[in-house]
Amino acid sequence: MVLREIDDSLALINIDTATGAPPDSVKSPERFICGTEGTERKCQYHAEKSGGSTRFVGVWHTHPVSMPEPSAVDLQAMAQILRLQAKTPRHVVMLIIGHAATSPNWRFHLFRRSEFQIVEYADGQA
Ligand SMILES: [Zn+2]
Repeated sequence: MVLREIDDSLALINIDTATGAPPDSVKSPERFICGTEGTERKCQYHAEKSGGSTRFVGVWHTHPVSMPEPSAVDLQAMAQILRLQAKTPRHVVMLIIGHAATSPNWRFHLFRRSEFQIVEYADGQA
């Protein structure tokens, strides 16, 4: 998780904390599935410690041998956060560190809830 604030009016993202992967995450060189265990407690801790100015703004992970561009799995994770939870934020940052194994290249991606639509389809239809 990355924590602090997003100021849409100033097009500014402040980050003061990046936490490690939750213990229920699934990690391999090809895939990272971020868990959720303990994340709410960590958010509460940082919010209280900062007097309410630090909150969840997004997630981060590495792409060990590829570009720092969101994969299909990454986009599904963004849809999950922005559309498929009880309390959804207006926007979420995804920091991807590409080519992390050789020459790390940081890239921030900002996703807005209004940019995501959940489309249901039945099997067998185009
Ligand atoms: Zn990714």
